[in-house]
Amino acid sequence: MTHRDHNDITSLDADLIDVARNARERAYVPYSKFRMGAAVRTNEDEIVPGALIENVSLGLAMCAERVALFGTVTTGHRPVRLALVAPRTDGELTFPCGACLQVALELGGPDVEVIAVDTDGESATATVGDLLPRGPHRT
Ligand code: ZN
Repeated sequence: MTHRDHNDITSLDADLIDVARNARERAYVPYSKFRMGAAVRTNEDEIVPGALIENVSLGLAMCAERVALFGTVTTGHRPVRLALVAPRTDGELTFPCGACLQVALELGGPDVEVIAVDTDGESATATVGDLLPRGPHRT
């Protein structure tokens, strides 16, 4: 995993992170209050946002990352990079859960780059293959 601070974010990443940050503002999180947003850069260099969306039937909640990943496929594309903006979890940058990693692996392969950003703008990157090294996927 490569750690870097926000000063190292390229302008390419900056617009992706901005979309994730804006999506975070739209997160529907009345139960957890864990405000989280994501954004996918597609193979066509488009950006697809996603926000965490909860429900009173708690099991129906959907992670921001999967909202963005499913939106990416819905628009006919595949994910290349995935940024997420969220509070830290137990002091650590919040990376995608296993379910979201599995979906990203299936749809984009192990080279999809994940950029985890906290609410202060500190970030770290890792590939889906780094984070889920033995997940099953096609090709
Ligand atoms: Zn998830």
